[in-house]
Amino acid sequence: MIAVPESIKRPEPELPGAPQRRACLLVVDDQPVNIQALYQAFAADHQVLMATNGEQALALCASKRPDLVLLDVVMPGMDGHEVCRRMQADPATRDIPIIFVTAHSDESAETLGLELGAVDFISKPINPKIVRARVRTHLTLKAQSDLLREWVYIDGLTGVYNRRHFDERLASEWGRAARTGGALSVVLIDVDLFKRYNDRHGHQAGDDCLRRVATALKAGVRRPGDLVARYGGEEFVCVLPETGLAGAMLLAQQLGAAVHALQIDHGDSTAAPVVTVSLGVCTQPGKAPGTAASLLREADAQLYLAKSMGRNRACGAELPAV
Ligand code: GH3
Ligand code: MG
Ligand code: MG
Repeated sequence: MIAVPESIKRPEPELPGAPQRRACLLVVDDQPVNIQALYQAFAADHQVLMATNGEQALALCASKRPDLVLLDVVMPGMDGHEVCRRMQADPATRDIPIIFVTAHSDESAETLGLELGAVDFISKPINPKIVRARVRTHLTLKAQSDLLREWVYIDGLTGVYNRRHFDERLASEWGRAARTGGALSVVLIDVDLFKRYNDRHGHQAGDDCLRRVATALKAGVRRPGDLVARYGGEEFVCVLPETGLAGAMLLAQQLGAAVHALQIDHGDSTAAPVVTVSLGVCTQPGKAPGTAASLLREADAQLYLAKSMGRNRACGAELPAV
């Protein structure tokens, strides 16, 4: 990154409770004067990161995930086309739109840039008004596609992640645990006697109850890597990376207590006067054989055990060694 001259530094505006964060742009150019021109065009409205070569650009893309990259084509060392190729090849950076900014007004350079996956092409010297307008358009499109990507993974009723996201995360966490030898736990959570709750209070109240349970579960997990998802119907599931059986059981008990603490009147449950959950925990301690499916199967067996022992409780086990 290059130093920003004091003359064009602006203080971060105070935005208490601002609904939207400022978009983050990455400007890549080996000529500081070009970077300054783009910085001045955008600093008032956006966070602007700067890189003067391809390697820096890729490192910043990986660590800061900018919303858009303004990329010079001709640079010593790795040129813009190669930066674009590498960003497209990496799933972590593939969705970041790239606008090439170059003095070349030759047709083949522009065609190659667009074929490599760039969303637009701007000629130097830049016209700030035009660049701002084009960037605004692409930022809007990026925000919309981010939102759609996110919605694909969100359960419509409860707002927690859905089964699709859970399946993907469990597979990737299972793979990671296998590589590192770390522990991995899942917790299956099932609302007790929920059919009776619906019968007594109505389906609408049932939906409200599921929303409140989901919110309590989500608030109950605290580590950034932990995941809460709706598994289906009145069942939820947590994935807890780097968590052994003792830690997972403790969390399961806390989640059960958090649902109990909502004090949602059930009125027809043998487990408690209020809505409760049963929880089944299973842990891959780090070296047991098996699959992600066997982890879930055993969690389901533990959930069944909790139900048969009177509900409103957690049961757990490690994955069997055979
Ligand atoms: P158990 O304690 O053994 O789990 O009993 P249960 O009644 O909770 O289990 P069962 O599987 O018999 O019934 C689940 C009920 O959950 C039946 C279904 O109508 C209700 N349910 C599933 N999804 C939804 C939903 O999205 N909204 C509402 N309101 N109810 C749902
Ligand atoms: Mg069920
Ligand atoms: Mg149930």
